[in-house]
Amino acid sequence: AKVSAELIWFNGELMPWQNATVHVMSHALHYGSSVFEGIRAYKTHKGTCIFRLEEHIQRLFNSAKIYRMNIPYTQEEVMQACKDAVAKNNLETAYLRPLAFLGDVGMGLRPPADAKADLMVAAFSWEAYLGADAIEHGVDVGVSSWNRLAPNTMPTAAKAGGNYLSSQLISMEAGRHGYTEGIALDVNNMVSEGAGQNLFLVRNKVIYTPFSTASILPGLTRDTVMQLARKLGYEVKEEPISRESLYLADEFFMTGTATEVVPVKTVDGMPIGTGSRGPVTKALQEAFFGIFNGKTEIEDSWLAPVK
Ligand code: PMP
Repeated sequence: AKVSAELIWFNGELMPWQNATVHVMSHALHYGSSVFEGIRAYKTHKGTCIFRLEEHIQRLFNSAKIYRMNIPYTQEEVMQACKDAVAKNNLETAYLRPLAFLGDVGMGLRPPADAKADLMVAAFSWEAYLGADAIEHGVDVGVSSWNRLAPNTMPTAAKAGGNYLSSQLISMEAGRHGYTEGIALDVNNMVSEGAGQNLFLVRNKVIYTPFSTASILPGLTRDTVMQLARKLGYEVKEEPISRESLYLADEFFMTGTATEVVPVKTVDGMPIGTGSRGPVTKALQEAFFGIFNGKTEIEDSWLAPVK
């Protein structure tokens, strides 16, 4: 999807979108050396707020730490850049994309010790990632022939640009097979995550999600949904999930910042439960979207006003 806005925050200043360009010899372009975030701002009862901004920026710095990348700004400065990128573009709702990358640091795999990352924050309008009616009607997914990254190869706890080569393979294959999204198994062939979503299934009212070691990104929507589910009285278990237990689930749904909370109708052409959104998924969606109109009680810090 082509996106744009008037202004973009790049290395400390807000500039016209079309001026924020990089050189073709940028390190990240050759070697994948970038880390990023995906964050949403919602129109809420407290005005336009960024959801779990602090945790997203903490994850950005965690990703940078894993790759020994020096982001020459404080977390507070990056949070302010996010707020400015939304507010100065007069956006009421937005998707935010902070990205730190190695630019003009020379060629070679070992960047100089004093190399500083470039940093940009874009905010723009981006509608439902899996389509407008996915939230209510669900999507068709298929298990990918591509596995997710194996432990101690490329760390999936880092949201690094290079990891998304794996996600692109999964997503492109899903598209070729007529699915909305692809589901990946981990190196042990247990369920891992979608190309850009964490996964949950429901069986006999108990909610299951792959353990954090199943080559997943520790998703903030995943964390949010787990907290909301427990508050609603559901038992939530992190455990290894087999491919066939997806087929036998009463309900199956995916979570992500761009995706939000989306039910899965079919896996590999097999209907899940009744083949339409189930009651637990619906209750969790209501709790999730209730955060943004004040119906769901949350910690104050989860909604950061942009001004
Ligand atoms: N896994 C992958 C590979 C992702 O790209 C995303 C989206 N950032 C997620 C899971 C979900 O994470 P979050 O809820 O923090 O957006």
